[in-house]
Amino acid sequence: MCPALNLHLLGGTAGCVVAGRLAENPNVNILVIEAGITNPGDVDAITTPARAFELRDSKYDWAYKTTMIDRPEYTRIEKPNTRGKTLGGSSCLNYYTWIPGSAATFDDWAEFGGDEWTWDKCREYLYKPATYHDDKGLFAPELKYIGQGGPLPVSHSDLLPETAGFRDALTSAWVSKGEELTDDVHNGTMRGLWKCLNSIYNGKRSSSWRYLVGKPNVTVMGKSNSKRLLIENGNAVGVEVIGPDGQEHTFHAKHEVIVSSGVFESPKLLMLSGIGPQAALAQFGVDTIIDSPNVGQNLLDHPILPHVFRLKDGYGLDNHLLRAGLEKDAAVSAYRWKNKGPLTSGLLELVGLPRIDERLNKIPEYVAAKKANGGLDPFGPAGQPHFEIDFVPMFSDAFQWHIPAPARGEYMTVIVDLLRPLSKTGTVTLNSADPLEQPKVNLNFFAEDLDIVAMREGVRWVDDLLMTGEGMKEIIGEDYPWPMPRHSDEAMNKMILERSQTGFRKFVLFFECFRFCCVLS
Ligand SMILES: Cc1cc2nc3c(=O)[nH]c(=O)nc-3n(C[C@H](O)[C@H](O)[C@H](O)COP(=O)(O)OP(=O)(O)OC[C@H]3O[C@@H](n4cnc5c(N)ncnc54)[C@H](O)[C@@H]3O)c2cc1C
Repeated sequence: MCPALNLHLLGGTAGCVVAGRLAENPNVNILVIEAGITNPGDVDAITTPARAFELRDSKYDWAYKTTMIDRPEYTRIEKPNTRGKTLGGSSCLNYYTWIPGSAATFDDWAEFGGDEWTWDKCREYLYKPATYHDDKGLFAPELKYIGQGGPLPVSHSDLLPETAGFRDALTSAWVSKGEELTDDVHNGTMRGLWKCLNSIYNGKRSSSWRYLVGKPNVTVMGKSNSKRLLIENGNAVGVEVIGPDGQEHTFHAKHEVIVSSGVFESPKLLMLSGIGPQAALAQFGVDTIIDSPNVGQNLLDHPILPHVFRLKDGYGLDNHLLRAGLEKDAAVSAYRWKNKGPLTSGLLELVGLPRIDERLNKIPEYVAAKKANGGLDPFGPAGQPHFEIDFVPMFSDAFQWHIPAPARGEYMTVIVDLLRPLSKTGTVTLNSADPLEQPKVNLNFFAEDLDIVAMREGVRWVDDLLMTGEGMKEIIGEDYPWPMPRHSDEAMNKMILERSQTGFRKFVLFFECFRFCCVLS
């Protein structure tokens, strides 16, 4: 027992932000409990931007076993689903895209969170974590509104000379299809091909642990697992922890206990503490303190469909980053000695945020759903983009580890991310009463048929742009490793069920606390 402590937190993305902000008050002492390591800033694989894909299934990954699809005719259970196990949490393992969300989507939150949760009231908090840098003066000076004085340096993705040809071709193709370009998606409107902003600056990833730097009133207890919340008279007053040596410790808080252990572990901790659906808790011998049937329910994630094209030689980064040889040696040396070159890159230089109304309006199922929705587009009723399209100028196994990396040639990976899926019935439930055992995660992608239709048409839309758009059509080659069945709806639907992956909830960076509330309520 440690009576001096005021607050206890868990040390992921949101946890570090909340701890760091609270610690600005010198009169509080904060204990952060974190299951992973406490020094992510010393780990090269974490701080080196272009090594991010290597972190999947590493010792810094919780690597969840996850039910991806749970339909009557098709079920798929996979491992590993990545979440960060380190101080800074998933902000140390993510793909750094510093991207906010549409104003209208925030406004929807008010229904659940109250009037304080509208875009107008939230936007200042979106800008607060960052300090925006444009050292070369390539972008409009007004963009510095995106972040001034926050602990996380952010900047537009390095425009590598090695990928200039790819960037130019993609930009030409995008414009040739009548689509717009944008440098700013932080103003509430997200549309167009965007020169991506990253939580990367000067060749290094920055993560939320930076919030704790220079805060002597924060103590971090690493390699320690929270076991159970202590609840007295309906209030959380402390926590039981399994320390690095396997010994159990109990901490009491003077003021508050804040749970921020991520979207999977937070509901697990609540359930192990007796807060959750009574019948489900009883199954594991956990006494119910608060019968809350919605804990662990209504889990929502973005499905993505990653796929790969061959590129003309000289347009990708495969030889610079993936395969041993002269180009990779040069990249490693440029990074080590000059902090420059392909390893500084977040790999997503350009991100597409399109709507595909024209295509969807030709699909009878979609037209019927829109009519039933009062004439409003179910996927973006207030003009939100339908997709985020990530264009990686390289084969990237983080999204498709089932497929062997090609031994030669250059490739691009296209990630089609359905931003507002209709399927919202994922669950997190207990697997056991053992706090060290993972919860049972069911993302339940494509529970709604219309999400398959939208994904299919999104893939067709982007593939048409890549295969027939000006510039791109000259450098794009065949599908890898096998042809996409673009001409058959039925085969496309099947392929989507078989190859889709998680989009890792991209739009909730620093706001997973809220997402967690959604899972609860
Ligand atoms: C691979 C990947 C790529 C992504 N790409 C992007 C992107 O480009 N842009 C973007 O905006 N978002 C991205 N995201 C999403 C974003 O990173 C997350 O939404 C966000 O980091 C979640 O923050 P959190 O605080 O809710 O959880 P986390 O950051 O996951 O924090 C949870 C913390 O709790 C700790 N913990 C869990 N259980 C226990 C326990 N029992 N005891 C002690 N500690 C525990 C964990 O170790 C972790 O540190 C990505 C996520 C991933 C995984």
